[in-house]
Amino acid sequence: MRYISTRGQAPALSFEEVVLTGMASDGGLYVPEEIPMLSHDDLAAMAGLSYAEIAFRVMKPYVNGEIDDATFRGIVEEAYATFSHDAVVPLNQLDANHFLLELFHGPTLAFKDVALQLLGRILDHFLQKRGERAVIMGATSGDTGSAAIEGCRHCDNLDIFILHPHQRVSEVQRRQMTTVLADNVFNVAIEGNFDDAQAMVKASFADQGFLDGTRLVAVNSINWARIMAQIVYYVASAVALGAPHRAVSFCVPSANFGNVFAGYMAKRMGLPVTQFIIATNANDILHRTLADNDFSKQELVATLAPSMDIVVSSNFERLLFEAYERDGAAVKALLERFQSEPSALAEAPLARLRESFASHSVSDATILEVIREAHHRTQEILDPHTATGYRAAEQARADAATPVITLATAHPAKFAEAVVKAGFPGVPLPPHMDDLLEREERYSVLPAELSAVQRFVVENRR
Ligand SMILES: *Cc1c(COP(=O)(O)O)cnc(C)c1O
Repeated sequence: MRYISTRGQAPALSFEEVVLTGMASDGGLYVPEEIPMLSHDDLAAMAGLSYAEIAFRVMKPYVNGEIDDATFRGIVEEAYATFSHDAVVPLNQLDANHFLLELFHGPTLAFKDVALQLLGRILDHFLQKRGERAVIMGATSGDTGSAAIEGCRHCDNLDIFILHPHQRVSEVQRRQMTTVLADNVFNVAIEGNFDDAQAMVKASFADQGFLDGTRLVAVNSINWARIMAQIVYYVASAVALGAPHRAVSFCVPSANFGNVFAGYMAKRMGLPVTQFIIATNANDILHRTLADNDFSKQELVATLAPSMDIVVSSNFERLLFEAYERDGAAVKALLERFQSEPSALAEAPLARLRESFASHSVSDATILEVIREAHHRTQEILDPHTATGYRAAEQARADAATPVITLATAHPAKFAEAVVKAGFPGVPLPPHMDDLLEREERYSVLPAELSAVQRFVVENRR
């Protein structure tokens, strides 16, 4: 198994290289050259297996023997032992045919833990084997930073530097990062906004000379291993509801498209999926593209579901590559045009997408209404991201007979603002986090200057 770029020009890479690389040198994203298949019998044999065992079987062909089976099993088991629910990602039945897949039982209470608990350990394994160390840099306005820190805190060969805008992230989100007191974790509060932090990370990746040859690694959602890890819960939940003997649909609160793209991969591997429903908030580029073929950027809107606030969906490129039947030149042309002007997909690729995907966009007012309505009907308090999914599933499902699984991407305690606005007294943090507001914090405040940030990285990396 090799990995190739969606823009068709970068060299093909091994699994190890692709995990350490991030973006392809031609500006594209890496995807597997062939999609491994799960046969009817493979799927049937997964009934009743543990999440870790299903994860091992689904991911094994992508790892391509580059980690031996026993070691990879150990990595997978360790990664998912950090989840507080024995089922790792339990299914919660809301009514006769609507299920919630609870992806928020990991260390930081959002679905990004599923991928980052695994990615940190895989990176550490490869670095150990090569006798190398690496530096991770990232900018965050919330979820990704804390999940990346939790995923790397035990990794001997990694030092992680996460930049957040000083005094502009919620207290819970900041403390989820700054109370991790590990020797290899460095939180930097930038005296600026998120875009300033992001720009400094981008500039550091573009010119890595300041690190004197130490590898700089990105753990954002373009890293293939994150997609790979996310394929697993589509397979596990569909099998729990009767796959391969019965098909299901999925509804996915979406932003950068990494999550729902993993679902699409599961379908391509052979999982019977009737429909993927993409839920967006007011930042609705995915919905506009599918519904109206309006593939254009619009102003960023700050919503009650902040982890879905995006202008461009980076992983959508991976789906375009499939929709354009793997024509890297066509994808490159479309995306280069899209950077500077409103664009549209060609007819045939769009029709292909519409065979598998539907979409629905949900406003802030509707998010609040849905949190109240879902509670009234099911006694569940949904987080605002999951609320977009709940509504989209009901609005856009093709038929009532196929079970629909809505992905619950965050725990409601993590996004208390929306829950309180919806009229609830708030949701307590789960027991393992209930002292979060009393824990000791550690972070450094730095000016929004590239040289100051890079000096900090060089002086503190181990
Ligand atoms: C990151 C995130 C999303 C969006 O996922 P993508 O993979 O970027 O589409 C949705 N909900 C929550 C809570 C998130 O943290």
